[in-house]
Amino acid sequence: MPQLGFGVWQVPDAEATPAVAEALKAGYRSIDTAAAYGNEAGTGAAIAQSGLDRDDVFVTTKLWNDDHGYDATKRAFDESLRKLGLDVLDLYLIHWPTPARDDYVDTWKAFVELQKEGRVRAVGVSNFQPEHLRRLIDETGVTPAVNQIELHPYFQQSELRAFHAEHGIQTEAWSPLGQGGELLSDPVVQKIALAHGKSAAQIVLRWHLQIGNVVIPKSVTPSRIQENIDVFDFELPQAEVELLSTLDRDGRIGPHPDELN
Ligand code: NAD
Repeated sequence: MPQLGFGVWQVPDAEATPAVAEALKAGYRSIDTAAAYGNEAGTGAAIAQSGLDRDDVFVTTKLWNDDHGYDATKRAFDESLRKLGLDVLDLYLIHWPTPARDDYVDTWKAFVELQKEGRVRAVGVSNFQPEHLRRLIDETGVTPAVNQIELHPYFQQSELRAFHAEHGIQTEAWSPLGQGGELLSDPVVQKIALAHGKSAAQIVLRWHLQIGNVVIPKSVTPSRIQENIDVFDFELPQAEVELLSTLDRDGRIGPHPDELN
């Protein structure tokens, strides 16, 4: 999958079409949506209207918590593909483990079957903790290709990243810009940005790319959509990557995966 993609969380369905169209025009070739975002139809419309070959765009969507379980998963997958207007999906993720429901293993079995049937090219998860990943691997023998997790310089998830590296799971960072909050005005980020003549967002995205994360920054502002993909003409020296890594703190923004049901 492309290492940099475009996220559409909190973008209303009607606005998703122009936003995704802008992203595709700017050169993004990977789009991250979810059933829960309510914008699969608007996202799919932009892809259809783009004139790009289907094989040139990598599309990810996610199964919502209420649709966990073997049969419900199959139904929800059909509905997502219908809304997206696609025959085959590139990546399907279990959005949250919801451990209190204890049904993510059955859900995963349906994912594995959808992949075997050729209806989705790769299957993965989101917000899974090491113990949830371990259970999937132990009970089905199939390792998720990707785990999409909250990750940014204020919340670096070292333990999970090490687990991913050990098991060949690709780390994908959600809220890679820390949702555009305090992180982007952090003095360390600002200083490095000034030195490179780049924006704070571009510096944070470079940090992700250089430590091997897949990133899916979101914006609906055309200038920022372009800015966030314009990160392939410079490199941070290792010392600056390490300096950014010293910003790690308990900076989780979203819910803890064990607590969301
Ligand atoms: P993000 O870190 O991408 O930040 C987005 C916000 O940052 C924007 O709304 C804007 O306010 C600001 N911003 C964007 N570009 C900027 C720039 N160049 N300069 C200054 N400010 C800028 O946060 P996000 O939207 O939460 O995460 C990105 C994507 O990750 C989502 O759209 C979604 O696809 C995915 N996501 C997944 C989960 C999950 O549970 N799997 C949860 C949250 C988000």
